[in-house]
Amino acid sequence: MLEERKKMVEDLVARNYIKTEKVKKAMEKVPRENFVPPEHRMSAYLDQPLPIGEGQTISAPHMVAMMCEVLDLERGMKVLEVGTGCGYHAAVVAEIIGEEGKLYTIERIESLYKRAKEKLKDYKQVKVIHADGTEGWEEAAPYDRIYVTAAAPDVPEPLKRQLKVGGKLLIPVGRDRFYQDLLLVEKLSEDNFKTKNLGGVAFVPLIGKYGWRF
Ligand code: SAM
Repeated sequence: MLEERKKMVEDLVARNYIKTEKVKKAMEKVPRENFVPPEHRMSAYLDQPLPIGEGQTISAPHMVAMMCEVLDLERGMKVLEVGTGCGYHAAVVAEIIGEEGKLYTIERIESLYKRAKEKLKDYKQVKVIHADGTEGWEEAAPYDRIYVTAAAPDVPEPLKRQLKVGGKLLIPVGRDRFYQDLLLVEKLSEDNFKTKNLGGVAFVPLIGKYGWRF
């Protein structure tokens, strides 16, 4: 599957989703086929979301690439991911921030949390947490970067609070089930934020105290 992975990465470079060497190297290294359920292994290198159980999906590779590029991740950064899913996106981020970095990733569905924890066990810089990520993870705050892989009705206040000044938060926000805006929020000072709309996306809902209350 190495050849298919290389082809996927070449395609993402050609379509300008991958722009930097660090994202390219990370996506060349992480075997997406090991994170998707066995019945979808053969589709692992198609550029599309795939079911991972519990009504959830793994994001399409171009979305993972784009989010990593926009976040401008650096080695050694402290990062919070809300929505671990199968753990693929977390593995790519872990490769970029390296062993000197730290990634806290939160999943609310227990079965997905357990599976992702097992898949990510060799990444010592990753801590997988079973909790409601809309509340963030106070005990390790503040973070250089926070990204959310599920769509919220509004930007959760705890996530804004737990971001470092100068930090970046990436989150899909919108009240439509099939269309949201991907927002990049930069923290300029403790109470001053600059928000840029990066365009339309479609994510599963972010469910929790500061998300959707189903
Ligand atoms: N990045 C993931 C991957 O590589 O597989 C895909 C994540 S999937 C699109 C979104 C995930 O967010 C789902 O697994 C869902 O259960 C989770 N989620 C939704 N609301 C959440 C919350 N409040 N806290 C933590 N996880 C949440």
